[in-house]
Amino acid sequence: MIGDYLGTIEEYVPGDGTFAEDGKIFAASVGKSNLDKDKREVSVSTKNLGKPAVGQIVYGDVMGFRKNVVTIIVSKIKDFKGDVDFKSEIYVSNISDKYVEKPESLFGIGDIVEAEIVKIEGNTIDLSTKGDFGVVKAFCKVCRRPLVLSEKQEGTCDCDSCGNNEQRKISKNFNKVVL
Ligand SMILES: [Zn+2]
Repeated sequence: MIGDYLGTIEEYVPGDGTFAEDGKIFAASVGKSNLDKDKREVSVSTKNLGKPAVGQIVYGDVMGFRKNVVTIIVSKIKDFKGDVDFKSEIYVSNISDKYVEKPESLFGIGDIVEAEIVKIEGNTIDLSTKGDFGVVKAFCKVCRRPLVLSEKQEGTCDCDSCGNNEQRKISKNFNKVVL
């Protein structure tokens, strides 16, 4: 927490996310404290301060498709209470452990996706839905109503309203995430 005592300036060098006062080092931000033994530097990681960082699990809406890319607007970072708003992308090769030909075959506009940030380069934030990640809430492409997991065909979703059956990259948390 902000103001937590971390050590003295005789012991450590104050690093990122800290401040020194009267020879003592305190946390300047909420986060996880780290000690770099080589540099004797104490810092506070802002990994979950609402800024995108590699390794975070995020939630967002499918906004659209470009060639080989799904565009996602991220609105939540797991374990961070506030709202966020940043654009990110899932490259076709980051969608699944299996080969995917067309991203639009496994996502629908407006679907909510659970994904991991795997790379940040300049303004481009790359997400992955490999493994257990994927769509946590899907909407029928015909009538827009929420889909349920299909009992007839594993790995697909059904619309209880119009009877449409659709493919998705389904998260293991499908229809279990409350945002
Ligand atoms: Zn429908």
